[in-house]
Amino acid sequence: MAQYDVVIVGSGPAGMTASIYAARADMKVLMLDKLAPGGQIINTNEIQNYTGMGTINGAELAMDMFNHTQELNVEFDYGTVNEIKEENGEKVVVCEEDNKTFTTKSVIIATGTRPRILGIESEQPYMGNGISWCAICDGAQYRGKDVVVIGGGNSAVEESIYLSGMVKSLTIVTMFDLTADPIACDKLRAMDNVTIYTYQNVEEFVGENGKLAGVRFKSTQTGEERIVNCDGVFEYIGLTPTTEFLKDTGLLNQFGYVEVNERMETKIPGIYGAGDCITKNLRQVITACADGAIAAQEASKYIKSL
Ligand SMILES: Cc1cc2nc3c(=O)[nH]c(=O)nc-3n(C[C@H](O)[C@H](O)[C@H](O)COP(=O)(O)OP(=O)(O)OC[C@H]3O[C@@H](n4cnc5c(N)ncnc54)[C@H](O)[C@@H]3O)c2cc1C
Repeated sequence: MAQYDVVIVGSGPAGMTASIYAARADMKVLMLDKLAPGGQIINTNEIQNYTGMGTINGAELAMDMFNHTQELNVEFDYGTVNEIKEENGEKVVVCEEDNKTFTTKSVIIATGTRPRILGIESEQPYMGNGISWCAICDGAQYRGKDVVVIGGGNSAVEESIYLSGMVKSLTIVTMFDLTADPIACDKLRAMDNVTIYTYQNVEEFVGENGKLAGVRFKSTQTGEERIVNCDGVFEYIGLTPTTEFLKDTGLLNQFGYVEVNERMETKIPGIYGAGDCITKNLRQVITACADGAIAAQEASKYIKSL
């Protein structure tokens, strides 16, 4: 007899919303995460597009969501899931830590994404040591200093607005034009200490005495090269799905995203995907929550049909 009706892997906005809907559907729920609950929003300064919230700090929203799950007595445990398999008609969720296993009737995969890295050779020595992917975590150490932000999408622009308030100068270097929300782009362009270089290819991270000292980049339109001196770099150039543990399941597409239909169903009955880790066009808090709600609703129907 399975220990749980549903095990939810990941406790970001998708996983937490799934757990709320599942608990309210009287399911026995376990939510697992390798880290503290909250997902990516823990490291986001301001969320300005979550309906009804106006502007809210990401960590605060994460805490409100987690408190909501706890009001419904959702069981939470730490665990890095490294396998999901079927045994005797049940699903078995295996964690890295001590091979901890849980049996369940259904599973919701809500493991999100992580930031992509540029992947050039000179990046390696400065990763976590001059190059960062989290303005909230590392921004303060560059107060009054010069930084470069690589990327031009929503995350790059929003985090640049946050950083520009504390650094001496901020230079954005992006492959194309800025592609973030126009309101955010206008706000950034209006800042005195911000310079924006569009249509640029980053060629090299330049060091001095073992420390990151600048970024060399080249215009994809004119071929002109430039070096901007800086103390730190923040990269916001896209996402990689956190789904490596599913690579042999047949659940992933060629880019590593979990393939689902509009009911969040994967190819395997009783296994659902939700949030940033699935195939979709808009990866945001509100869409992650919506996916989580649908996945839990469908899981509830599925276990009733067993
Ligand atoms: C810098 C930045 C700024 C952003 N700003 C906004 C914004 O202003 N507005 C907005 O709507 N969205 C914003 N987003 C996007 C938003 O954060 C995501 O869309 C949302 O967090 C996705 O939620 P999720 O639950 O799908 O995944 P995540 O939030 O990524 O959560 C996934 C969880 O799964 C856990 N996990 C992963 N693998 C495993 C495993 N094997 N075992 C156990 N646990 C695992 C992770 O630890 C994590 O807690 C921003 C993102 C970034 C990076």
